[in-house]
Amino acid sequence: HMAQRVGVSDAGTGGASKRVSRVRVAVRLRPYMEAHDEKGEGPCVRGLGPQSLEITNWRNATETLQYQFDVFYGEQASQQEVFLSSVKPVLPHVLSGQNASIFAYGPTGAGKTHTMLGSSEQPGVIPRAVREVFHLVREREKESEDWEYSVGMSYLEIYNEKVLDLLAPNSQDLPIREDKGRNILIPGLTHTPLTSFSHFHTVFLPASLNRTTASTKLNQRSSRSHAILLIKVVRSQQGPTHRQQTGKLYLVDLAGSEDNRRTGNQGLRLKESGAINLSLFTLSKVVDALNASGGCRVPYRDSKLTRLLQDSLGGSAHSVMITNIAPEYKYYFDTFTALNFAAKSKLIVNRPFVREIVCSSTTGKRPQDEKGSRGTAEPQ
Ligand code: ADP
Ligand code: MG
Repeated sequence: HMAQRVGVSDAGTGGASKRVSRVRVAVRLRPYMEAHDEKGEGPCVRGLGPQSLEITNWRNATETLQYQFDVFYGEQASQQEVFLSSVKPVLPHVLSGQNASIFAYGPTGAGKTHTMLGSSEQPGVIPRAVREVFHLVREREKESEDWEYSVGMSYLEIYNEKVLDLLAPNSQDLPIREDKGRNILIPGLTHTPLTSFSHFHTVFLPASLNRTTASTKLNQRSSRSHAILLIKVVRSQQGPTHRQQTGKLYLVDLAGSEDNRRTGNQGLRLKESGAINLSLFTLSKVVDALNASGGCRVPYRDSKLTRLLQDSLGGSAHSVMITNIAPEYKYYFDTFTALNFAAKSKLIVNRPFVREIVCSSTTGKRPQDEKGSRGTAEPQ
């Protein structure tokens, strides 16, 4: 039937050159929550298949907008599923001296922290990735005695374009530098050596809780800053030729992507909004530039976030962006913006958004949910 392509750049598959690797883009839809739907309108987004979803077209109710990504995780997708398909495959590279970065992007309330941090019942990407890094290190050490591995962490926040050390209370804005080998580093940033996954827990948990508590007092600061966990794996070869390789893994819970100007912020809030918008806007330009096939300039230097990630985003690094979205109408415009950032392609299809999935039952599950964890493609 009628379908129309609209202007979102299609990175395709053939364009990636050897030197610049694409950023893989996944989208994760969080479950529908009645609490976020005061008007009882039901969801406006739903999954179509393992790489696509559709959203109501607010301009024309007889149409839906369908989007394609590298991966789509429906509301039934588990933390394990997200980890296994988007994160686990990049981790071995970090033990071989390569860099990687995993981001959670999207509006506040759409599931970024759930995806990255999760809860003790449903641990997210961060605990799973760190556990796996230690697992891989133990395996490699068993396989061969040539290399010795050491793991360490730093934890920082970018707030108002300031770089703050979350492992050192009351830290000042730290400078970002580049060494002769083009590695990005932050002199003065706390780096804590780690001996095991449980050791990681004891260092990371209090620091991340601190950040969350402070946030409720300070204008929901946690949704207005980028929280960046760095796991560094150094391996060194003993013997006549002493070799050393460092792999960095960045795990990033980004600031909310909602347009803060629209909410009428003033003063400090407006300044924050500008800073958030600058770094997220630059990040989107960097991802676009990396995923475009031509050799266009990648504007890493335009914000602190992208400058810090310069050696771990694009180039020979392995990067995954998990865009979190929410299905309720009150998120419509923020979802729309986030999808246009994440999409490989977009299609306007003239069939109305199917609303019958809205019927609520006491279990909170809808009939369609039984079909499969990511939703199934419907016959059209
Ligand atoms: P963000 O960090 O983007 O602001 P949160 O991760 O805090 O969003 O998610 C908002 C709420 O939705 C939280 O209560 C969270 O537990 C819940 N939530 C988010 N994603 C999921 C999911 N996939 N499954 C179940 N609950 C989720
Ligand atoms: Mg959050």
